[in-house]
Amino acid sequence: MSIRGPLVDRFGRVHTDLRVSVTDRCNLRCVYCMPAEGVEFRPHSAILSFEEIERFVAIATRLGVRKVRITGGDPLVRRGILDLVRLLAAVPGITDLAMTTNGILLGDYAHGLRAAGVRRLNISLDTLDREKFQQISRRDELARVLRGIEAACRAGFDQIKLNTLAIRGQTEDEIVPLARFAREYGLEVRFIEFMPLDAARQWQNDRVLSAREILRVLQEDLGPLEPILPKNANAPATEYRFLDGGGRVGVIASVTEPFCDECNRLRLTAEGKVRNCLFSTEEWDVRNLLRNGATDERIAELLHDTVGAKKKSHGTESGAFAAPERVMYQIGG
Ligand code: SAM
Ligand code: SF4
Repeated sequence: MSIRGPLVDRFGRVHTDLRVSVTDRCNLRCVYCMPAEGVEFRPHSAILSFEEIERFVAIATRLGVRKVRITGGDPLVRRGILDLVRLLAAVPGITDLAMTTNGILLGDYAHGLRAAGVRRLNISLDTLDREKFQQISRRDELARVLRGIEAACRAGFDQIKLNTLAIRGQTEDEIVPLARFAREYGLEVRFIEFMPLDAARQWQNDRVLSAREILRVLQEDLGPLEPILPKNANAPATEYRFLDGGGRVGVIASVTEPFCDECNRLRLTAEGKVRNCLFSTEEWDVRNLLRNGATDERIAELLHDTVGAKKKSHGTESGAFAAPERVMYQIGG
């Protein structure tokens, strides 16, 4: 029996992009994401096995998914991660396999990841200052992250981007040094607006450092920017190039200018819940199906149900918003 076709929602959005979280564990404790202590991680038995993830991804690609990004927690703390990368790289239909990581373990893994089939890498970096890094991530690991970035630069990825979380009171002084650092390494840095997905529930609208403000600071210090056109419709970042030829930067205005109209993403959590939005309060349990003999058709149906229920927008920009129970490290950013 064939399974139903593309994952189109009620608003005509075609879903081709899947984020796969492979763990809720992490070797940092970023203040905007995880609690400092007392984190209750899921036991290994609750987390999808590599074979379960591979099967789900293979079904999703038969429904039109083309891009897969592996994330977490930190994906590199999942034991045997290279085996999973190899399995996913071999799934027919995937044209783009990417990973988001905090970079700590890239010194060990960068070459292996490239060889196993990861094409693009996003590395999170909020500051170049050791003390500030420690304040933000609650760990003294900046030096290892920087070594990880260097290893990644040597490993031959198609693309490496740096992700910087933009929080008022935290990020203002980091914008220019990070943009200069990225230029030096020939990378693109993207500033991401702080979203209400922190474990501490400290998010407030006035803590969002907006994309507009970031662009102003960049231009004041580093000269004029021009937008890179045409914009990739489904990419969350708006990208700019410096007119002096000195590289490019991106801003992700998830809160002040949400891009829900173009959203083509689905998410699979480490323990097998499918989500249609970062901010969704509803989830669809595929682990149960995977472990109880469900057919591919049944799993495809679950994917269609998930997409069919997707809302027009996440609502953070309006008052109509309830933060999901799950926070960032439990979803997979
Ligand atoms: N551990 C990896 C890392 O940090 O890159 C992958 C998972 S992490 C959840 C993915 C991305 O989510 C990171 O770039 C991080 O900065 C971002 N993030 C975490 N909490 C966030 C929040 N409250 N708002 C916006 N982005 C957030
Ligand atoms: Fe870990 Fe990434 Fe969350 Fe920081 S943002 S605590 S590195 S999962």
